[in-house]
Amino acid sequence: MGTELDPEGGNDPLKPLSDNVVKIPRSGIRGIMDVAEQMDDVIHLEVGQPHYDTPAHIKEAANKALQDGYTRYTPNAGLPSLRALLADKLRHINGINISPEGVAVTPGGVFACASALFTIAKAGDQVLLPEPGWPNYSFQTRVIGVEPVYYHLNPATGFLPDVDEMRSLINERTRAILINSPSNPCGSVFPESVLRGILDLARDHDLYLISDEVYEDIVYEGKHYSPGAWDDEGRVLTVFSFSKAYAMTGWRIGYVATTEEICKNFSKFSESMVSCVSSVSQKAAEAAITGPQDSIAAMVAQYKRNRDIILSAFAEAGVVAYKPAGAFYMLLDIGNTGLDSYTFTLKLLEAKHVAVAPGLTFGPQSDNYVRISFCKDEESIVEGARRIAEFMKAARS
Ligand code: PLP
Repeated sequence: MGTELDPEGGNDPLKPLSDNVVKIPRSGIRGIMDVAEQMDDVIHLEVGQPHYDTPAHIKEAANKALQDGYTRYTPNAGLPSLRALLADKLRHINGINISPEGVAVTPGGVFACASALFTIAKAGDQVLLPEPGWPNYSFQTRVIGVEPVYYHLNPATGFLPDVDEMRSLINERTRAILINSPSNPCGSVFPESVLRGILDLARDHDLYLISDEVYEDIVYEGKHYSPGAWDDEGRVLTVFSFSKAYAMTGWRIGYVATTEEICKNFSKFSESMVSCVSSVSQKAAEAAITGPQDSIAAMVAQYKRNRDIILSAFAEAGVVAYKPAGAFYMLLDIGNTGLDSYTFTLKLLEAKHVAVAPGLTFGPQSDNYVRISFCKDEESIVEGARRIAEFMKAARS
């Protein structure tokens, strides 16, 4: 019998939770991190978190902001002063010509992606996502009932997308293509010709293009391009973050470059979910983009050294890994071990106390990989690479 509080009746004390959230898979990266955190002496190569501290001048700016009274809400899309600085940066660095009203400041690149996806797609739509790709994209699509459709980043082509394959996946339900260059987890940096091909495809089929460029500064070979620079229709929504280049993962600040119209809608989304980004983080971000940039070059040089240390340790041991041109991730092919990626990561953790991320979390067909995150200190990298190579040798024999 129904009651006022329980109009549908039934004896269950509590209703089931919403499938939209309950059915989001747990990130395999966080899953392995949780297991690793119960153990001592683990070398953490699973999470994409720079081991550097935020540069001192940025922290000082945050302290000053607190003293200056930046302790209140800001406008939903961010402080006007920060949006103006970002519009300037977008014009000069990325070649994206938009007004400050086309920039939305978000709590991290992750919420920037969600703002883009939730604003342009609705339940029943499809969005093309990269595989292997950052798992949060598919988590987000699932929350709103959007179906992820995967295009492949193939090791044979250096983990670049095949525009013809993308075209074959498009139908009347397709709403957007999402790209991520430099790529997590593949480390590929898409060349200009590929990016222009994808933008043309989006134009031909009237699709939005979400371009996640949170690793724009971390490039070892090749050059980073922003397809938003070639767009004069408002088709490209570009996602950026302060997390990686400025070692600011905990400050939770990123931004989206888009049109004023889309930005107004982001503001409504933001108002309903988070109101705004922390005012102190926004002032810190202003210091990050106006202050000295040399810390980025120093970090990138260290990441490149780390990459090369791992590659030469693996080459000596006959282990196959793919050389990344950007970001700070490397995929390792574990096909010849006979282990699935979760079993591999758990066994490696148990036997060698090294945590890496299982490939399956990056897409349904990525179980033959594990991902190594190399944004660490050199000592951990040398030792971690040695232990992984040893484990691989034993596992395949
Ligand atoms: N996009 C990609 C590809 C990422 O790897 C990450 C974080 O790891 C993000 C976006 C979001 O980063 P944040 O929310 O810290 O800005």
